[in-house]
Amino acid sequence: MRSQLPRLQSRVSITDEVFETLRSMIIQGKLRPGEKITESGVAVEMGVSITPVREAFLKLEAAGFIASKPRQPSQVSMLSLEELEQYVFIRSTLEQASLDRLLERITASDLDALWAIATRMRQSLEQRDWDSYAKDHRSLHELLLQSVQWPILQQIVMRIFDSLDRYRFLGNARSLDQWTEDQCGHEELLRTIERKDKEAAIRLVVESHDRLVIHLKRALECGDHDIAVHFTGVRP
Ligand SMILES: [Zn+2]
Repeated sequence: MRSQLPRLQSRVSITDEVFETLRSMIIQGKLRPGEKITESGVAVEMGVSITPVREAFLKLEAAGFIASKPRQPSQVSMLSLEELEQYVFIRSTLEQASLDRLLERITASDLDALWAIATRMRQSLEQRDWDSYAKDHRSLHELLLQSVQWPILQQIVMRIFDSLDRYRFLGNARSLDQWTEDQCGHEELLRTIERKDKEAAIRLVVESHDRLVIHLKRALECGDHDIAVHFTGVRP
């Protein structure tokens, strides 16, 4: 009977807190692909017991953020270059194909909210505040997808976003020019959406995804050790 369900214990929210903290750190590139992470280490550092951390690890693994092997420390999930290219292809294809729907459904208040986020991103960029930038960047794409009003599409693309964005962070980490180029691309995308210019919007979507792949490929071809260690199947 529903009335007999047990009351939730506080460790449930600690699990969520641990999950959210680690998830943000992975998305923001503070925990990088391939980095090892142990339940006991997290429990000690965060000052919590092992049980909620274990539960948070299970949730992180189910959501694709970490990978676990028996009797080994978990690792932040890594991609091969080919997997990264597949994700980019799928995300880019879905974003282009849903643009018609986005342009039909997006409202003036959606656009106001998007510009507010883009303005904060510009400020974070100027202040080199990468944590805020990464957080707002995710919100911007989530809101754009929300405007399409297809929740399953939103879920699928956001999952891909989370697998990819840590690599964008990695790839751009050393070049302010690339961050600025990304930011200008987002602002230009909002302008094209505002004037319902589908062709220009498609071009910007394709360009932004291409930029990530080209940059990382070039780094790997040049034998950039700092980037290679974050890929599977690449000998650093
Ligand atoms: Zn973006």
